Amino acid sequence: MRALRRSGNRRFPCFTDSFRYDEHSSQYIILRKNTARMGHQPTIDCTSTPELSGIPPVPHMPPTPISFTPTRFPAWMGRHYQWIVSAIAVLALLTLLCLGWAAHTIYDRAIQSASHSLGQAAASAASQLKMMLLERSRDIQTLSTASITRGLAPEALTEQLQTLQAVHRAYRWIGVADSQGTIIAATDSSSAAPDQSQRRWFQLARALTGVRILAPQAHDESDEPSAITLIAPLRSRDGQFLGAIKAIVAVPSLLSILDVTVQVLTNLAWTADSPIEYLLLNEQGNLIADSTPRHDNPLNAKPFGLSSAIIDDRKEQGFFQETPLSRGAPLITAYAHLLIPQADQTLHWTIIIRADRNSALTPVRSFLWTLSWIAMLLLLPLLALTLGMVTALHEEWLTATREFQRASDAEAALTNRTEALQALVMAAHTLSAQHNLNELFDHLLAIARESTGARYAALGISRDEHHEEGQFFSAGTDDAAAQAIRTLPLERGSRETLKQEDSILSLNDLTQHWAALGLFQDHAPMSSFLGVSIHCHGQLFGRLSLANKLTDHGLAPGFNELDEQIVLTLAAQAGTAIQNLQLLEDSKEEARHDSLTKLLNHLAILNALNKELSRAERTRHPVAVLMADLDHFKRINDTYGHPIGDIVLRETARRLRQVARRYDHVGRAGGEEFLIIVPNCDLDTLAECAERFRSAISDWPFDTPNGPLTVTVSIGATVASAEHPLSAELLLKMADYGLYRVKSRGRNGIDIVPHPHTQLAGQARKTA
Ligand code: GH3
Ligand code: MG
Ligand code: MG
Repeated sequence: MRALRRSGNRRFPCFTDSFRYDEHSSQYIILRKNTARMGHQPTIDCTSTPELSGIPPVPHMPPTPISFTPTRFPAWMGRHYQWIVSAIAVLALLTLLCLGWAAHTIYDRAIQSASHSLGQAAASAASQLKMMLLERSRDIQTLSTASITRGLAPEALTEQLQTLQAVHRAYRWIGVADSQGTIIAATDSSSAAPDQSQRRWFQLARALTGVRILAPQAHDESDEPSAITLIAPLRSRDGQFLGAIKAIVAVPSLLSILDVTVQVLTNLAWTADSPIEYLLLNEQGNLIADSTPRHDNPLNAKPFGLSSAIIDDRKEQGFFQETPLSRGAPLITAYAHLLIPQADQTLHWTIIIRADRNSALTPVRSFLWTLSWIAMLLLLPLLALTLGMVTALHEEWLTATREFQRASDAEAALTNRTEALQALVMAAHTLSAQHNLNELFDHLLAIARESTGARYAALGISRDEHHEEGQFFSAGTDDAAAQAIRTLPLERGSRETLKQEDSILSLNDLTQHWAALGLFQDHAPMSSFLGVSIHCHGQLFGRLSLANKLTDHGLAPGFNELDEQIVLTLAAQAGTAIQNLQLLEDSKEEARHDSLTKLLNHLAILNALNKELSRAERTRHPVAVLMADLDHFKRINDTYGHPIGDIVLRETARRLRQVARRYDHVGRAGGEEFLIIVPNCDLDTLAECAERFRSAISDWPFDTPNGPLTVTVSIGATVASAEHPLSAELLLKMADYGLYRVKSRGRNGIDIVPHPHTQLAGQARKTA
């Protein structure tokens, strides 16, 4: 008995997938990969005995749970990776925008602050100028009401005027005219004509009641085009015009105030690189004073269209930005109005101070520049680090997901494999429990189909030593499919390989090849093929073929590795089961036959008699029973010895078997006595039948090592007909009685014992 063993390190030749069609031989030529598969074969060890229950069930091993789970990574990381990177990029952009906005705001604040400083300086200068002019105005007012002035005493007045000029260096010239316009006293008589009666200031002074400040160019005949003139009338207590005072204040003295202001501003940090300039404009836009020394006539700024020429005078002070052509760069222009109310009108001047806007931004720029460097040094690595970490985390997440998927797939595959093998072992149990070969074949085909998902299964059984298929069984297949499996045009080498034990042939994607060869119409639509040989007693028993793997989704391109393993295991198991069944049948046969003559033994022939009688009862056919006994056999034994006696017994059995019809039963009842059951033999033909048997023994001598030997036989016979059914016991007694009668008569003859109620057709005859 062959013990079936599969072990993990056993190598199975496997030829898969790779094949081509050879047009010359009209066969598929298998390109062998001969991949040795190791380590994945199921281990089925039946070393003890391959009896029916010899296969231990595969212990059910619950699959080891996978400890790793990707849930420690947030699921959104995989789904929203692009979004995260985009969000980081947007955040970085927003940060940059915020920084830009902050820089812009700081710039703006810096400009505002610088402008405010300039405005304050302008307002301060305006206030100082106003103060100075009002002081001068009060000087003249005081002078105009002094009694010394009213007295118009030239010497005293001149001395007074010179004293005033000495005290206040701003006065360039001070003079007093009488009511006729004649200068009667002056700080410097040479600088003015004695007669001023026709001068406009004098005309104006006649109409005035108090001091009046005249801006440069406000009077047409000024000796000092860029000087400020103060005029005041001299009146008696009753208001009579006595004369007028004229004082010229030099503009440079005004400018000193603005120069000081500019000097103060120049000390500010941001003004280091910026030339600060100022302008003093009158209401008409005429330039009264300018930080740039100007020798030509005063200009009017308005035609230049600058904002500084048309300053909104509703606000006392303010600032704005402008870009004059002369500078070509944006400027901060701060202004302050200088308003001095006078008797009949208000003097309206404007002080403008300008500085480069860019200079105001210089300290901020250098600060921001430093800040951006620091930010870049800090933020860029941080951004790179964040992006790197997110990318690395995402990569890890992807790897983890892949690993998890792989582990899950492996676990599922393992579970499938375990379940399939368990089912297979269970099925193999049932395979071994079949009672005959046909049942076993049907069962094998059913299991093979069920466990591999094959649509067709076929089993070809080898007829001879050339392994041509004699019998062909199939399941789930139609004739065309069976034909396709039988005639699969395999290369001879592959066919031979398929006959070897434990080799398997797997062909996939056949559909394309059938179609390419134009065989689609005549062949079953075979898409995949899996073949394996079944061996029994070390000989090829047959070939198990499967075709067209089906899955839940329809036809699969081919059988997989698990299918191959299942089929290999199944084939090995089937080989064992077939072998067991054959052995069982052999031993049954042995138990029914006599070992010397190979005829049915006593028990078996009696069983055969009973069976035939039962059948005859149904079919109403007669059954004849013949009892044959060799004559004087003891003598043969005694004369030639037992071995010769045995030879005679064997030859007798052969001759009886030869004469008997196919459905007659010949048995050895014991010793040299034989029982022959002849169905369908009635009383009329019984004599002839019995005579045939007698003649076969008695008429030809037996060949023995001791030479030809004449042996005779006596036969007693009877028959059971439908009309006269008799028990087996009675029939045997009747046949025995017939035999007794032959022996009594002298042997080598036949004797028919009819039923007691039967009219005998003829009496016993003695033929020898
Ligand atoms: P008869 O014509 O009256 O039947 O005489 P016989 O000698 O044939 O009958 P008998 O019953 O006296 O002898 C039968 C002999 O057959 C006795 C026995 O030794 C012999 N015998 C029985 N079985 C075997 C056997 O298996 N082999 C051999 N060689 N002889 C056997
Ligand atoms: Mg005898
Ligand atoms: Mg006998």
